[in-house]
Amino acid sequence: MKTALVAGAGGFIGSHLVKYLKKEGYYVSGVDLKEPEFSETLADDFVLGDLRDPLMVESLFDKPFDEVYQLAADMGGAGYLFTGDNDADVMHNSVLINLNMLKSSVKAGVNKIFYSSSACVYPEFNQMDSENPNCVESSVYPAQPDSEYGWEKLFSERLYFSFMRNYNIDVKVARFHNVFGPEGTFDGGKEKVPAAMARKVAEADDFGRIEVWGDGNQTRSFLYIDDCIEAVYKLVQSDFNGPVNIGSDQLISINDLAKSYFDISGKKLKIKHIEGPQGVRGRNSDNNLIFEKLKWQPQVSLERGLTKTYEWINEQVRGSSSEKKR
Ligand code: NAD
Repeated sequence: MKTALVAGAGGFIGSHLVKYLKKEGYYVSGVDLKEPEFSETLADDFVLGDLRDPLMVESLFDKPFDEVYQLAADMGGAGYLFTGDNDADVMHNSVLINLNMLKSSVKAGVNKIFYSSSACVYPEFNQMDSENPNCVESSVYPAQPDSEYGWEKLFSERLYFSFMRNYNIDVKVARFHNVFGPEGTFDGGKEKVPAAMARKVAEADDFGRIEVWGDGNQTRSFLYIDDCIEAVYKLVQSDFNGPVNIGSDQLISINDLAKSYFDISGKKLKIKHIEGPQGVRGRNSDNNLIFEKLKWQPQVSLERGLTKTYEWINEQVRGSSSEKKR
């Protein structure tokens, strides 16, 4: 039986990855500061621990792992990453996690480690035009990420590849672009736009107004969680190291994202533009490299992904409002 360690197994993508690896027949160990919020972990064992602590990390490797998946990071949506208020913690915490995970993996003789980087590594100057952002992998240098989160991810990519060169560990690096779906954070300040917007629509009364940060003409692409996990697994099983984009290449404006949720909910709503952190003007995944190397492309349409996400968030919102009434 193959064995895997998933770091960040209590988070959105990590908890879905655990489920996938279990279906593939792995023995899965999970570690995180917290257990998954919305369903029980399927991991065979789950350690509640802080990956900033090198001794705690070392203790995870008292059993052998064929594959390590490193998804733990101090992260959130635009309201958490792009205000500047959390920069020191974001950089400090995530760098420590990556230093510890790499050192212990090498010491324990792990063959393969996956690292989740981000589209936030791409230079701001290539993402000023909302209709034509350039996020081809090779465009990352000269570097000018628009956030400290992006700089940390870029530094850590380099850290992983240095370990690959000097310590002979097989490293796989993916740059995720806005992954969304059920069981992702949708409130509390760390939620990202597809979940935040679904919550606002679910909470709104018919004929109400939904707040959108900025003019809403900024563009993004959104990848459904199941597609993301399949791509990660394909990358890890391949002989390609990356870094490679894992994202959707279907660009949509934030205004149109909101309108899609209006249609899905059946509510008659209007957009109210307010000031707020927006990040770059446009961002889209360039999927040429991943298609060439892994023959992977997203399978779930944006409409279907948004519908499944809305249905799940709507259930959560209804559940918590009926609890409050009791
Ligand atoms: P998430 O916040 O849901 O998951 C990250 C997990 O890491 C959390 O459960 C958190 O508790 C855990 N963690 C943080 N600090 C820790 C510590 N010191 N010790 C132990 N655990 C710790 O985020 P996610 O959306 O599942 O993202 C997973 C990875 O993918 C992250 O590295 C993130 O930067 C990257 N990523 C995600 C997206 C996206 O759209 N979701 C986009 C780009 C990159």
